[in-house]
Amino acid sequence: MPVENVMEKVVRDVLLKHKDELHLPCTCAHCLDDIMALALNQLPPRYIVNNELSPYVRASHVADHQGATNILLTVTKAAGIVSANPRCEWNKTNDLNKNKF
Ligand SMILES: [Zn+2]
Repeated sequence: MPVENVMEKVVRDVLLKHKDELHLPCTCAHCLDDIMALALNQLPPRYIVNNELSPYVRASHVADHQGATNILLTVTKAAGIVSANPRCEWNKTNDLNKNKF
C-alpha cells in the first residue's frame, strides 16, 4: 500500500471550499494545482499508510483550529501568488493586453 500525504487532501478541501472567497482570476485545473503545490511546500506533510485512516486525520486537522487557520492562510497566500502570475492558457491570452501598459 503506497504512502500518502494526507495534507494534499486537506489542502484540496480547503482550496475548493474557499475558492469563491479567494477571488481567483482563473480557476482552471492548472491554476488550482499551482496553488496546491505552493501551499503544500509551506505546510508540513502528514504521511499515512492506511487509506482508511484518511478521514480521521483530516477530521483532526479541521478540529485543530490553529492548524486549520494556518492551512487557510497558506492557501490564501499561494492563491495570491498564482493570481498575480497565472501560468495557464488564461495568462497567454491576456499577454497582449498586459504589453500595452
Ligand atoms: Zn488558469
